[in-house]
Amino acid sequence: MKYNANSTIPISDIRITDSFFNKYRDLVGKVIIPYQWDVLNDRLEDVETSHCIENFKIAAGISKGEYKGAVFQDTDLAKWLEAVGFYLSSYGRDEKLEKLADGAIDLIEKAQQPDGYLDTYFIINAPEKRWKNLQEGHELYTAGHMMEAAVAYFEATGKRKFLDIVCRLGDLLCDVFGSEDGKCHGYPGHPEVELGLVKLYRVTGKEEYLKLAKHFIDIRGVGDNYFLEEEKRPDFDRIFPEFNDYDPSYSQSHKPVYEQTTAEGHAVRAAYLYSAMADVAAEYGDKKLLSCCETLWDDMVHRRMYITGSIGSSGFLERFTTDYDLPNDCNYSESCASIALAMFGKRMGEITHDASYFDEVERALYNTVLSGIAMDGKGFFYVNPLEVWPDACMEHTSRAHVKSERQKWFGVACCPPNIARTLASIGQYIFCRRDDELDVNLFISSETRTSLGECDLVVRMESRMPWEGKVRLIIDSKSEGMELTGKLGIRVPYYAENMGISIESNMGRTLFDNEEHGYKYILLNGKSMTIDISFDIPARFIHANPLVRADAGKVALMKGPLVYCLEEEDNGDNLSSVFVDTDTVITEEYQEDILGGTYRLYFEGRQLNMDGWDNHCLYGTQKISLTDRRFVAYPYCYWGNRERNKEMIVWIKEMIR
Ligand SMILES: [Zn+2]
Repeated sequence: MKYNANSTIPISDIRITDSFFNKYRDLVGKVIIPYQWDVLNDRLEDVETSHCIENFKIAAGISKGEYKGAVFQDTDLAKWLEAVGFYLSSYGRDEKLEKLADGAIDLIEKAQQPDGYLDTYFIINAPEKRWKNLQEGHELYTAGHMMEAAVAYFEATGKRKFLDIVCRLGDLLCDVFGSEDGKCHGYPGHPEVELGLVKLYRVTGKEEYLKLAKHFIDIRGVGDNYFLEEEKRPDFDRIFPEFNDYDPSYSQSHKPVYEQTTAEGHAVRAAYLYSAMADVAAEYGDKKLLSCCETLWDDMVHRRMYITGSIGSSGFLERFTTDYDLPNDCNYSESCASIALAMFGKRMGEITHDASYFDEVERALYNTVLSGIAMDGKGFFYVNPLEVWPDACMEHTSRAHVKSERQKWFGVACCPPNIARTLASIGQYIFCRRDDELDVNLFISSETRTSLGECDLVVRMESRMPWEGKVRLIIDSKSEGMELTGKLGIRVPYYAENMGISIESNMGRTLFDNEEHGYKYILLNGKSMTIDISFDIPARFIHANPLVRADAGKVALMKGPLVYCLEEEDNGDNLSSVFVDTDTVITEEYQEDILGGTYRLYFEGRQLNMDGWDNHCLYGTQKISLTDRRFVAYPYCYWGNRERNKEMIVWIKEMIR
């Protein structure tokens, strides 16, 4: 189970040609990166001030002033640089953009302290308070994002400056933290640095970074809780008043990770931690840690995840609650949390060789992650409800966090750059390579250069997903005089019906292996092969486990990996009063001219009408009456893109006879 450095094909070797994803991906370079650069530099008047670059200038002694923004404001620049790195890897070098990025990296270097320390909040505000508030301070979280960004930028450009900066930071962390006497025995309040350290190890080969990542995981939640002890110290300054009465499960430090069996606490923290646990399990061949990851994954996706692949059902503290507690209109379901779920699932799928992990990766990416961004790239959801009644999303209520339209930017702006980096690096989720095998996990049109055995090859994927189950793979040997070798695994999605595969090879015969781990296998041969994969993805009604109280007696609509929803502009308001009989026929219709081309779904249903009710009658004994109506549903990821501030609903009431 040792980590295979070759399992992920570099995104620079994958060209995405997919019209479904490219309409979003192309926004990364055209809209999001330039827009976010303006935000970071406070050049936009109608957007909440970021002050991010200014903080670096103050820390570097170039500007004078006070630190402004969240304690982790530095990560906005880190995530922007990481998105730039992935963008350059995926779309090719861009001199103008690199000049901006190089300038930002120069500034980061100037802000870095002589010993490698890098966090403008503490450099400016309280240099003597370094590492004194790991519970809330986010220094290690920020360090992790800097490391991930530096690795992405180095891999895209080969330029070492940023990598050297974070190596100095990583070296400092190795000096400060550890189990030895005299070192700080703390660990991050927000997991993330573990992921950065693993990436830094993989690119530099320096084992200390990997050891420190493992140490942070091993020590978490062991003995007296570090964060509760830390806050008793006289030099501890509370940053977030809401963390008085701190609950260690919020940061997954309530018990050692090896003893954790349920997904707890802040959902982004949890899924970042689990992703790092999977990395460390793979690097060390640690079967016990991997088994913990499997248990946590099982709890998360089988009892605590929305049908849209989002997690964190409580608006309060953005956290998991208990099994099957999945309210639809006051949930948190942060975009970043679904990204983290996809990261965790990708790692688990690669390590365990089990295709079912990619069912959930696909669910998160196609529904919540895309819902998080407007189709013009200029608005974002931080919170992803499955039911919205805009009038009820009021300030100072339990739905204050739910927005009924995408926002331009946020004071805490983790989600927009996180979505940008995920779109720019979507190629990493498509394939997994292992020894003599190439697995196809997501059906995203692309052209990929890679190798199997000694043979270089090019894989062209032409996919009609997510609209139709039609995928063609054309695989050509690019090695002089060499034939294709090894095998190809094709993921069988959980929703695919009547899956068929036909193969054309210039060997004049087809070779077809068995199905294992959720993959159908094809033995590669000849100079060139064309593989046609077909399966049906009819629109269907989906029920939730009856223990999900919020969804009892309701159904959702799905087609392939896409969840559908009803919106007010098509169906009128009060969508909670819509009923559907699941025996009804769902009509599918492809619309070329809407939302960049999409299938919409029609069905006959009924809706409560207002006969006998008026403004002075809230309760009454009169019988309810229903009106027959036709309803139309659009993909959830597209909601709120045509009209804003309208009602939306995923789970529809079912007529049960
Ligand atoms: Zn976020």
